[in-house]
Amino acid sequence: MTVLVTASTTQPPTLNDAVYSGLQLIENGERIRTCLQCGTCSGICPFGHLMDYPPGKMIAALRAGAFERVVNSDSVWMCVSCYACTQVCPAQIPLTPGLMTRAKEEMLLAGNVPEELQHALQFSQRYGNPLGESPRKRAAWTKGLDPPATILGKAKRPVDVLWFVGDYPSYHPRVQRTARALAKILAILDVDFGILGREEQSDADSQRLAGERGLFEMLAEKNGRAFAKYQFGEIITTDPHAYNALKNEYPALGISYPVRHYTQFLAERIDQLKPHLRREVKARITFHDPCYLGRANGVYDEPRALLEAIPGVTLVEMFHHRQTSLCCGGGGGGMWLDGFQWEKARSRISEWRVQEAIKVNADILAVACPYETPRFEDAVKTAANGAHLVVKDIAELLAESLDIEEE
Ligand code: SF4
Ligand code: SF4
Repeated sequence: MTVLVTASTTQPPTLNDAVYSGLQLIENGERIRTCLQCGTCSGICPFGHLMDYPPGKMIAALRAGAFERVVNSDSVWMCVSCYACTQVCPAQIPLTPGLMTRAKEEMLLAGNVPEELQHALQFSQRYGNPLGESPRKRAAWTKGLDPPATILGKAKRPVDVLWFVGDYPSYHPRVQRTARALAKILAILDVDFGILGREEQSDADSQRLAGERGLFEMLAEKNGRAFAKYQFGEIITTDPHAYNALKNEYPALGISYPVRHYTQFLAERIDQLKPHLRREVKARITFHDPCYLGRANGVYDEPRALLEAIPGVTLVEMFHHRQTSLCCGGGGGGMWLDGFQWEKARSRISEWRVQEAIKVNADILAVACPYETPRFEDAVKTAANGAHLVVKDIAELLAESLDIEEE
């Protein structure tokens, strides 16, 4: 008997198929097929002129069945996940959470990853934070707070608010000042809050946007298990990236709680807060809208309402503000790609932003994201005519007006 052996007609999936099928998992991801090739996305991208494949060209490569050309170029690492392209796309394609993040996932699979980003991802996996700090030190910033912060694992009691402090406010010496200022404001408002301390892991949203979906899920699930151990009414975050993750990404993993950024939480209590704002802060202040508070989540008014509640403040707007705000350069892994991006651009987006603040004669550049304070302070150091410009988080400015500013 003759056995006929026929060749299988099933082809292994191509890289293009993999990108398309990954996009099916993103809300409205299938809209990529409606791209008009208008180039608006590439034009608005802060680093589009330095990318071999800005979003529109990337879609053209996908349509041509040539996505491997995108993966062989490293210029997708210039993307800082700022949502500017997503905001302006007339076909409403979710470029930032869809195409750009999928491209980064493929870059990781291909091993085409700048070393500095690899370190941050490895630290996140090993220590639960991208800075490589010990989990045991996560609550060290609370030392000396009066009243002391409630650490849920020790207090073993329900609280009204679980404050998800975040990586940089927990560990970065400059940003710890923001955390301490916010702790004092919450205490003055009699907010019954608790923190996770060493049980808190990175929210991992920036790692997700840098293409590390598996790491994101691992850390999110650890946070989810920690949340489930305690009783609380809602979560507040210091970091817009954590707010974005908990609001928009964690629910798909079955981790769903009411969550707000701290500026939303305080703005809701503005009438209670105002009588405590006794010290004048006589300054022209301009506010930098963080991408993951503004463009990604539509929160524009609350930070401004808080700044305007401080006596003595004159609020002025930079050329790019609200929906058109410029990124600080830290999103989507940009926080861990400074060296790589400097080599390509020889300038930093944070420097452009500081120049905009100087142009409107601002004394203070106010921020509401932990990435921004150190990034903008660095940029001020090299800015022409910028010596007078001070960078402060809104929590620090409110604390200053309460007469409890940190040293
Ligand atoms: S803006 Fe939207 S429609 Fe225009 S090229 Fe970019 S992705 Fe395509
Ligand atoms: S998300 Fe921002 S940096 Fe990334 S491609 Fe879009 S506009 Fe450019």
